[in-house]
Amino acid sequence: MSFSDMPVDVGPVYEGERIRSNQMYVELGGPKIEKHFELVKVRNIKDIEDGKVTLHGPDLKDMDEGSRHPIGILVEVAGKQLEEDLEAVFERRIHEFTNFINGVMHLNQRYTNWMRISKTAIGKGFNSFNMMGTILVRLFKAELPIIEKCQVTFYTDPKAIEKPYKGALEAYNNRDERARGLHDSDVDMFYGCVLCQSFAPTHVCCITPDRTSLCGSINWFDARAAAKVDPKGPLFEIPPQECKNEIAGEYVGINETMRKRSLGEIERIYLYSGMEYPHTSCGCFEAIDFFIPEVNGHGIIDRNAGALAINGLSFSAMANTTGGGKQMAGFNGISLQYISSPKFQQYDAKQLGLDRGIDLVVWMNSGLKERLNEFLPKDIIDKIATEKEINDINNLKEWLKEKNHPIIKTWTEEEEEIEEYEEKDAMIPVGTQTMTIPGSGGFGGFKIILKNCKIHADTVIIKKIEEKKKR
Ligand code: SF4
Ligand code: ZN
Repeated sequence: MSFSDMPVDVGPVYEGERIRSNQMYVELGGPKIEKHFELVKVRNIKDIEDGKVTLHGPDLKDMDEGSRHPIGILVEVAGKQLEEDLEAVFERRIHEFTNFINGVMHLNQRYTNWMRISKTAIGKGFNSFNMMGTILVRLFKAELPIIEKCQVTFYTDPKAIEKPYKGALEAYNNRDERARGLHDSDVDMFYGCVLCQSFAPTHVCCITPDRTSLCGSINWFDARAAAKVDPKGPLFEIPPQECKNEIAGEYVGINETMRKRSLGEIERIYLYSGMEYPHTSCGCFEAIDFFIPEVNGHGIIDRNAGALAINGLSFSAMANTTGGGKQMAGFNGISLQYISSPKFQQYDAKQLGLDRGIDLVVWMNSGLKERLNEFLPKDIIDKIATEKEINDINNLKEWLKEKNHPIIKTWTEEEEEIEEYEEKDAMIPVGTQTMTIPGSGGFGGFKIILKNCKIHADTVIIKKIEEKKKR
């Protein structure tokens, strides 16, 4: 396969390329544009014109520098061995293949897709969707040889994208709906995905019926189909083997696979915990489940949140701590599907004497709460605060008491303990403690080891110093 007819280079070496706003010529999709999507559909072989690229709307060369546009990418594929279950896994490859293009940055998936084209690429003559489509067709057919024919359609016009956007949302919903009916106890095989190791080298997704991949785009059915057609590919079987702890979701087979696939970095995971041996997070999780120590509960913020979370941090600020392929207790990258699963963080809940993981959740951004409304237990919905009701962690405590949120049952003992310490004005002996402060982007950071020490502090504030402020 050659790209010598293209004005820019194409290859895996460009996958990690970041295009900052001052380097970008145009932005396609992303949080500032309402409708955008990417979708793969399997079609009948006679309905595909191999190599055809169609555009509805302005081309790259017609777009003004610095402008933003909708983007719809519909990749239609055909082949004798193809089945509908493979669509989601093929769709995830759009992220990888567009990132292969020098001067193109692609983030996220489904209806959160976000692309930037650099000024340099446009300057070199990469100025049409026809080129991007041709590159996609070639890569899809070369990397996934079971695809015999492939055609690509782009939508950049706000009117033209409306109908296919609606169709894409329906397709995602249908996939999610199907997965919702199945649970981990119904199957005897789990799956793994290492597609994100190109930027999070120790990250391995473990995909089970209750835990759709954290990017939200590959459910158990999708993973099964992909592992079947390409067992040596990035998606593979994980035989769970013996279950060591049912509530935590700890399996011998998962631990073994994690160890092997993370190059020894991850030894053990609890599928249903965000606090102990949590699943690793790469960077493309749909939402972050974060611990709020002040109320002993958890908050969840999704990628589309316009507001800051209750802890004063934005999604992207927390994403830096969460991602990078580490196990980060208290910061967990998760899919939206997992939140509505009965297994959701059930281990953490049981540790506190609560019945369900959702009983830990005290705050969500309002958009997320609306999206999940129909899937969450009715008795908890009104007790979860959003940025519309509560912006301040001090008020959150009062709100939770007023609403009789289940988390307040976990407070009594802790409050007494704190009072006891305050009464005695005690120093808290901590013995030997290790804490790791993560670096930005999940790499680097440092470890502080405190030996035989006593700590007494009224308040501890750990703040990230922004580059500008440092200067
Ligand atoms: Fe694969 Fe997980 Fe990355 Fe999704 S988030 S592409 S499932 S590794
Ligand atoms: Zn990822």
